[in-house]
Amino acid sequence: MNKAKIVIIGSGPAGYTAAIYAARANLQPVLFEGFFAGPAGGQLMTTTDVENYPGFPEGISGPILVESFKKQAVHFGTKILSEDVESVDLSSHPYRVIGRDSHYMADAVILATGATANRLDIPGANEGEFWQKGVTACAVCDGAMPIFRNKALFVIGGGDSAVEEATFLTKFGAMVYLVHRRDKLRASKIMQKRALEHPKITILWDSEIIMVKGDTVVRHVDIKNLKTGEVDIYDAGGVFFAVGHTPNTSFLKGQLELHPNGYIKVVPGTCQTSVNLVYAAGDVQDHVYRQAITAAGSGCMAAMEAERELSARGFCL
Ligand SMILES: Cc1cc2nc3c(=O)[nH]c(=O)nc-3n(C[C@H](O)[C@H](O)[C@H](O)COP(=O)(O)OP(=O)(O)OC[C@H]3O[C@@H](n4cnc5c(N)ncnc54)[C@H](O)[C@@H]3O)c2cc1C
Repeated sequence: MNKAKIVIIGSGPAGYTAAIYAARANLQPVLFEGFFAGPAGGQLMTTTDVENYPGFPEGISGPILVESFKKQAVHFGTKILSEDVESVDLSSHPYRVIGRDSHYMADAVILATGATANRLDIPGANEGEFWQKGVTACAVCDGAMPIFRNKALFVIGGGDSAVEEATFLTKFGAMVYLVHRRDKLRASKIMQKRALEHPKITILWDSEIIMVKGDTVVRHVDIKNLKTGEVDIYDAGGVFFAVGHTPNTSFLKGQLELHPNGYIKVVPGTCQTSVNLVYAAGDVQDHVYRQAITAAGSGCMAAMEAERELSARGFCL
């Protein structure tokens, strides 16, 4: 079994930022970047332009931004393993991190495995079709892009985040349609009121998008009314999935406390989980902001908290 002062699980902005800080603090971090569990590099690998990460006034491609994080982490001495972590044993210290091929005993662990934005399998909306050519899963990230301006935009979902995303998109779209399979929203009363009263939001009840069509970008959607079976074709400039996220925590299997929605519980204002010297950073512990910059910020916090605690306990020698 290998030994490490700190093992970081996940290679998105949270994992790489934690690695940069841990490496510069001389902790010689080992980072599992994932393989089958999600794209190495995380969610930004699935997007084109990132326009809201500070430092890039013209925007930057998601994969190029991630590549720079990785280079910086490696430059300061992070060891990167291209494999998934299959399980962890946090019941006794040092902790065991069991990768597909490599096994580590770690003095501290940072969990940065992110969350997966749920999508529906709609013809035309997938990778190689109109995904990232008008179809996306993050209104806050992508809504301000020129391709969505003054177009009819379609949000799929019926919960609070769907209403929030629809309301946000009214700043940019000509009209926003909230496409919902049922005849009432799951969103809270106040959010429902907001959607129902907004002059630029139309709710398409009992409906689903059955096809996304276009040329180089999205131009139309076919929408089926599930009660009547009727299909209407709408002009469309964008389709936004707002059907929830799934935190990537299945490999933790009862090793530490999670919220009922599966996100890792941390002490508010910190990255400290329910287990000493185990920290969580990024989207895996954040179901509110879910942005690259907040993930990176909490990666920094996790590494600093880990370094302080390891030093205090004499593990940094
Ligand atoms: C389509 C889309 C566009 C977006 N655009 C923007 C944008 O423009 N601006 C912005 O700020 N945010 C954007 N976001 C949100 C942003 O990508 C996330 O908030 C951010 O990536 C979260 O970082 P993270 O490090 O917490 O997790 P992630 O980026 O999700 O990375 C998690 C990592 O953990 C790894 N992993 C998972 N399970 C395991 C395991 N068992 N073992 C080892 N590794 C594992 C994965 O492979 C991955 O590398 C976008 C998201 C999406 C889906």
